[in-house]
Amino acid sequence: MSSSTTAHDPNCIFCKIVAKQIPSRMVYEDEDIYAFHDINPWAPVHFLLIPKAHIVSMAHIGDEHASLLGRMMALVPVLAAKEGCNPYPKGGFRLIANTGAEGGQEVHHLHFHVMGGPRPWLRG
Ligand code: AMP
Ligand code: ZN
Repeated sequence: MSSSTTAHDPNCIFCKIVAKQIPSRMVYEDEDIYAFHDINPWAPVHFLLIPKAHIVSMAHIGDEHASLLGRMMALVPVLAAKEGCNPYPKGGFRLIANTGAEGGQEVHHLHFHVMGGPRPWLRG
């Protein structure tokens, strides 16, 4: 593992959520991936999809992560529908990975925002 991919960073809030040291409302869990409702939702459906391993951001993704990210992307439409996003094309969802300061990233553990549901939304 590179320095940008450690199993667990004790100072990281999302690592603490994965370790169940901080409570969260789970959407999905397997060996490598966790999803939970955003604490401050912008839309009727707003959850975060994260790798359990502490990968800092999309700027830290390389070929070695292709399979993990592929599995995460394949989960997006399944979990979006399960959480109440309406079907494409009238429904749909937004998929966002804020990356770095100029990308608006506040939590430095890779996460994909999945947002959907009827508009208007609070933000986005
Ligand atoms: P970003 O700006 O992309 O880094 O977004 C971080 C997201 O994490 C924000 O939408 C926050 O509302 C969300 N967030 C922060 N702390 C928690 C938490 N304890 N449980 C759920 N979501 C959180
Ligand atoms: Zn982390």
